[in-house]
Amino acid sequence: MAQIIDGKAVSAAVKAEVAEEAAKLKEEKGLKVGLAVVIVGNNPASRVYVNNKKKACEAVGFQSFEYALEEATTQEQLLDLVNVLNRDDRVNGILVQLPLPKHIDEKAIINAISPDKDVDAFHPINVGKIMIGDYSFLPCTPAGVMRLIESTGTDITGKQCVVIGRSNIVGKPQAMLLLQKNGTVTICHSKTKNLKEVCLGADILVVAIGRANFVTGDMIKEGAVVIDVGMNRLDNGKLCGDVEFESAEKKASFITPVPGGVGPMTIAMLMKNTLTAAKQQAGIE
Ligand code: NAP
Repeated sequence: MAQIIDGKAVSAAVKAEVAEEAAKLKEEKGLKVGLAVVIVGNNPASRVYVNNKKKACEAVGFQSFEYALEEATTQEQLLDLVNVLNRDDRVNGILVQLPLPKHIDEKAIINAISPDKDVDAFHPINVGKIMIGDYSFLPCTPAGVMRLIESTGTDITGKQCVVIGRSNIVGKPQAMLLLQKNGTVTICHSKTKNLKEVCLGADILVVAIGRANFVTGDMIKEGAVVIDVGMNRLDNGKLCGDVEFESAEKKASFITPVPGGVGPMTIAMLMKNTLTAAKQQAGIE
């Protein structure tokens, strides 16, 4: 039976580290870390995420600046706001909540955020830096996954790591981070042929597909570390992962639950990135 990886506890530890450093920055340098969160439209899930980010800012002692724009906001208006925030010294990090309404080109917005304030690490400059291993910010979800794997005491070096999903936000950067820790990495996607066989070879399996209960226990190697990034809302309103927990926990050595696994880590790593941004902008790091 697998040990459950407690994402809430690990994320609380990360946030406590961040809060301590933020308090020190304020006391010693008079700096108050600030995060601007921009949301466009009324997507209920986005609203929840933005509120959680605001609460996390309060918990670690950051200032948060929230910009809730109406659905009809034009791309130009949003670009204007991003440019204002790029120049605002109180704002160390800028997060534009995705997805944006269809009439706005997400790429254009991401590209307009100053790479120094891009705490989501989605800007092409930051993505490129991750590729060469010379980064300031890591994308929050993959960075959170790395922290969870670390919390199990697993040494990634030489391990067979399988990532299912190749999105720019999760799958691809996840694979890079595992590679940087000397894992032997395979990336799977919807066109992968022998998925079950590939998964059965994984010592570390990270699943980021967006399909409820897709990975079942018979696809998991005995003793594997299984990280479930998926967040799927079932018809009954319950949240569930991409991994079928009941069958998977019988095979894995460690496994993340949903909720309470990767989810809380994403916000904790966002706080960490914002702190890093503040320190860099102050010439401290
Ligand atoms: P995405 O952009 O939709 O990417 C999904 C990936 O899964 C794609 O690469 C797709 O392959 C692959 N895929 C789809 N069906 C597959 C199949 N049958 N077999 C193998 N691969 C398949 O999703 P995402 O943004 O990466 O998110 C993935 C999941 O993680 C979602 O449930 C999302 O809600 C969750 N998520 C959670 C957090 C968190 O904080 N916990 C953060 C971000 C995302 P193709 O490229 O071939 O289409």
